[in-house]
Amino acid sequence: MVLRMVQFPSCILVAGVLLVFGFQGVEQKSGPIGYTDTPMLPDGKWHVHDSARPQPIEITPGTSCSQAMPDKPPSDAIVLFDGGSLAKWRTADDHEPRWTIKDGFLQIPPEETPDGGSMYTRESFGDCQLHIEWAAPDPPVGDVMNRGNSGVFFFGLYELQIFDSYRGGIYADGQAAAIYGQYPPLVNASREPGQWQVFDVLFTAPRFDGERLQAPAYMTVIHNGVVVHNHAALLGPTAHRASPQYKMHGAKGPLMLQAHGNPVRFRNIWVRPLKDYP
Ligand code: MG
Repeated sequence: MVLRMVQFPSCILVAGVLLVFGFQGVEQKSGPIGYTDTPMLPDGKWHVHDSARPQPIEITPGTSCSQAMPDKPPSDAIVLFDGGSLAKWRTADDHEPRWTIKDGFLQIPPEETPDGGSMYTRESFGDCQLHIEWAAPDPPVGDVMNRGNSGVFFFGLYELQIFDSYRGGIYADGQAAAIYGQYPPLVNASREPGQWQVFDVLFTAPRFDGERLQAPAYMTVIHNGVVVHNHAALLGPTAHRASPQYKMHGAKGPLMLQAHGNPVRFRNIWVRPLKDYP
């Protein structure tokens, strides 16, 4: 039950709840108020409304971004790029990436740049929330099959496509916000090239039992405030012109940003590892 009585102070609300539902079974020691005489939840760990259940950790939420300003990350985020250095990133062979940093954003360098290829986070992540802001080049660079092409790869394997799809042109499962080669976005929420766009992603890592797939990876994606994947079950690592197939890997892996020879820009990249309920 949700009681919306925001016009009353919380003490009046609590008193009202007690008046209506009675005091029986209520534990009010030093911690939060709750119950111990309620049914156990099916997992057998906590009573319904259990007073002993740990309180969520308090964080300071961030703010939404605008074209002029990046979003402000929540206080418990791991900031991977904030306009400064690439200290949290490496190349495939463990060098410092030579992507261009200017005016607070990051840009994929020309293809021939030494150490300018795809880059990986130094830290590994399993289940996580990722926020990334990106912009396709304006005017567009390259042909229709590579227009604003980049991508975020979870575990370096599962690609959420970054592309200039403002006016379509490429196959459905290759456009911006596609889970590449598997699922087109539910709608095309792309902005014009040159505009900042936002991905907010919930990624659930696949589970393996030895070599056997126990549970697939899942992705929920919000593109510019619009849900474009709702808990989509991935078919395996994403692939170009090939069928996806899972191959066992560990519980955590790096995030990868794809360099595809197209000067896509990025700003404000942060991640929050997700954990189970206590
Ligand atoms: Mg790509």
